[in-house]
Amino acid sequence: MSKAKSAAPRVKHVPQRTCVACRAVQAKRTLVRLVRTPEGVFVDEQGKRPGRGAYLHLEAECWQRGLRGALDKALRTALTAEDRERLEGYYRSVVEKN
Ligand SMILES: [Zn+2]
Repeated sequence: MSKAKSAAPRVKHVPQRTCVACRAVQAKRTLVRLVRTPEGVFVDEQGKRPGRGAYLHLEAECWQRGLRGALDKALRTALTAEDRERLEGYYRSVVEKN
């Protein structure tokens, strides 16, 4: 006796987000959320800060592309030198940890 159902693919509900640098759609947990706040653009590790958010892969290429303009566009803001420094610092600290 076969219990096979129809061939329809099973749809799992994993939240998907788009990396603003490479445009790949990924499960949310593989991406880092950046959030625009009145104080600047911050990494949102919990993914819970209010504000306009954008997602990036934690990879050199995506991170660099993000800091070079993709993030500004996605967040509809202009990253300040301070923002860039903070985000670069975050990236470095994570890479060095691993
Ligand atoms: Zn990416």
